[in-house]
Amino acid sequence: MRSHLLNDTNAERYRRTVTEGVERVAAKLAATDRPFTGITADALAPRIESIDLDRPLGDTTAVLDELEEVYLRDAVYFHHPRYLAHLNCPVVIPAVLGEAVLSAVNSSLDTWDQSAGGTLIERKLVDWTAARIGLGPAADGVFTSGGSQSNLQALLLAREEAKTDSLEKLRVFASEVSHFSVKKSAQLLGLGQDAVVCVPVDHDKRMQTVALARELERCAQDGLVPMAVVATAGTTDFGSIDPLSEIAALCERFGAWMHVDAAYGCGLLTSVKYRDRIDGIEHADSVTVDYHKSFFQPVSSSAVLVKDAATLRHATYHAEYLNPRRMVQERIPNQVDKSLQTTRRFDALKLWMTLRTMGADGIGQLFDEVCDLAVEGWKLLAADPRFDVVVEPSLSTLVFRYIPRAVTDPAEIDRANLYARKALFASGDAVVAGTKVSGRHYLKFTLLNPETTVDDMAAVLDLIAGHAEQYLGESLDRAS
Ligand SMILES: *Cc1c(COP(=O)(O)O)cnc(C)c1O
Repeated sequence: MRSHLLNDTNAERYRRTVTEGVERVAAKLAATDRPFTGITADALAPRIESIDLDRPLGDTTAVLDELEEVYLRDAVYFHHPRYLAHLNCPVVIPAVLGEAVLSAVNSSLDTWDQSAGGTLIERKLVDWTAARIGLGPAADGVFTSGGSQSNLQALLLAREEAKTDSLEKLRVFASEVSHFSVKKSAQLLGLGQDAVVCVPVDHDKRMQTVALARELERCAQDGLVPMAVVATAGTTDFGSIDPLSEIAALCERFGAWMHVDAAYGCGLLTSVKYRDRIDGIEHADSVTVDYHKSFFQPVSSSAVLVKDAATLRHATYHAEYLNPRRMVQERIPNQVDKSLQTTRRFDALKLWMTLRTMGADGIGQLFDEVCDLAVEGWKLLAADPRFDVVVEPSLSTLVFRYIPRAVTDPAEIDRANLYARKALFASGDAVVAGTKVSGRHYLKFTLLNPETTVDDMAAVLDLIAGHAEQYLGESLDRAS
């Protein structure tokens, strides 16, 4: 069994094995003609069920053959230009190389004695990101597992900074289209049921600052404490960006912590053309960025940044075995003092490899391309009488629905759109997402692949229309 250990004697085996795996995936990428095979969970489950984990195959070639059956063949492939569903990006090769290196070396970023240079590389990337945001000289931060964890940590810091004698009095303000992890975090942080105040959005799905001001006013009048305002820079559903500077001014006036959830919109930090869309982000007390959404990084790669490094102390606990207080005196750097995690992947390496290979402008150009593509898609939808499109894109998302001429029953239109999404998924020809707008079912393109073309979007819209028409035709038959 020792032959499986990654070490000096097995270096050649390591090379052969990993190369074989890389070759399989490369062949797969080259041969994929649709984003998905359309397989159902019921069809796939028996294949996985039938495998006896207590009877190993012994050799990785056989395991890779089996993997073809249970995973590779039917996986959902984000690199395919007709994968248009969620905030999943195609990944860049330097980052995948970083992934291979970091898992082989297997550093853990909690302490210096488990990572050495990794600690400094992560710190440099945190500083780089904070500088891009404009957070100022006292900024700091840490890599996290994702936007949800970043939001949780930011709100933890905000809670600790809030001046109150009772958690019940704390209020968090976020728009009605903010990410659900805000509410989840409030719950985890022991805030009351009513802690998150939902602020309405305008026609463009941006937080209404007049409404926010009113809510903050009311909060003060009721003797409650405005713990934080969460501004979303790139909502998950619409890509809409809350008015950051106006929100910053209100936070200042009411003494609230300003958190900017830029899990999606952080791509603009490297944009060559559209950086000004997130102007005002520099006022934030904390910022969530998901490199695994708009920096073309593999999952997971994410960070939380703070304006004032000292606030990270609220995540610090000292364990004698790991990070005793004396290490602070000895000036031995560690990241565990800043993190909710202990053992932690060196995800920062992927971004490092990417920046060192392509540069920030390289990432920004790719993100600009998908933003431009969204504008083209919007024009396409706006000109097409078969579809109703919700907002002009601020980033790379399009929300729309099929509206059949002959049908007026809104519930029937909902069903036709739901059906179209499902049928499309089952065909595997394309994958799109869905969401609700004013209680009605809509479809969504999240564009993160620069390889997607206007023709791809047009073709997918035709497929959607075809499926919706088929549903309506059959439902007419059912009725008659
Ligand atoms: C995706 C997303 C999150 C959650 O990030 P994960 O990396 O999925 O945990 C939070 N906020 C916004 C606006 C998002 O789009």
